[in-house]
Amino acid sequence: MLTVLESLELSSKFLDNKGVESARMNAELLLAHILECKRLDLYLRFNQPLNKNETDIYRNYITRRGNFEPYQYIIGDAEFYGLKFIVDKNVLIPRPETEILVETILEKYPKDEELKILDIGTGSGNIPITLAVNLPESKVISIDISAEAIKVAEQNRELHDLKSRVGFIKSDILTENLEKYNNTFNIIVSNPPYVKKEEFGTLQKEIVDFEPDIAVTDFEDGLKFYKEISRKSHLLLREKGILFFEVGQGQAEEVKSIMEKNGFTNVEIQKDLSDIERVVLGVK
Ligand code: GLN
Repeated sequence: MLTVLESLELSSKFLDNKGVESARMNAELLLAHILECKRLDLYLRFNQPLNKNETDIYRNYITRRGNFEPYQYIIGDAEFYGLKFIVDKNVLIPRPETEILVETILEKYPKDEELKILDIGTGSGNIPITLAVNLPESKVISIDISAEAIKVAEQNRELHDLKSRVGFIKSDILTENLEKYNNTFNIIVSNPPYVKKEEFGTLQKEIVDFEPDIAVTDFEDGLKFYKEISRKSHLLLREKGILFFEVGQGQAEEVKSIMEKNGFTNVEIQKDLSDIERVVLGVK
C-alpha cells in the first residue's frame, strides 16, 4: 500500500502531465477530502499508508480531475464567503470574484435593516444565502431558469436553515412578467451569464466541459442579460433601490451605460482583488 506522501507525489505528477493547473494542490485537496482532514494536516500524516478503499476512491477522484472535472464537483461542495455550498454539474461553482459583489452589498447596509432582495440567476443559491446569513432581518427571493439548479439551491437553504427568509422561483428573466413585484425590492443583485458566444470555447476545459453553459454564456454579445435585467429592475425596485451586477472583464463601462439608459443614477464601478472592474451598481 502506498503512503499519503507517495500517493500525493504520484497523483500530482499525473495531474501535472495532464496539464491540470496547481496539480499538487488539487492532489492534496482531494486526498484531504477522503481522509476527512485539512489539507495542511496531510503533512502530519505523510507516512500513513492508505487502505484499499481510500486508494480506490483516490484513484477515481484523480482520474476525474485528470479529465478536467473541477474538484468542487468531485467532492460535491465549494466554499463561498466562508460558508459551505453543495454543488453539482447543474450549478456554476461559486467564484471568489462574486464575494466582492456580496461584500459591496453588505458594506452599503446596516446589518439590522429590513431589506427585500431579489437575486436573478441564483445557481447554487450562494448569493441569497450569504446575504440572508449576513443580513438577518432581510428576505430574499431568487429566480433561476433551471429546475435542477433550484434543487441544489434548496439543499443549500436547508443546510443553512433559511427556509423562512429565502424563496426560490423557477423563472426565465428574459420572458417572465414579474409585474406583481413592481416597486418591491430594496436590492436587486445578479451575476448573469456574461461570456460572449465566441469567447465561450476559449475558456478553461474545466468550465467548457463541466459547468452549465447557460450559467456562463448568453450565446450572444455577453450583454443580453444586463440589458433585460436593467430594464425590468427599474420597475421592480422601490424608489432609491439599488441594482448590483457582477460583470466580466472589460464590460463595466458598457454595463454602466446600459444602466444609465434605463434610468439608474449614481452608477459606480468597484474593482476586485486583481484590480479588474467587477461590480457595477446604480440607484433607481
Ligand atoms: N448566482 C450564482 C453565482 O454567482 C450563479 C450565477 C450564474 O449561474 N451565472 O455563482
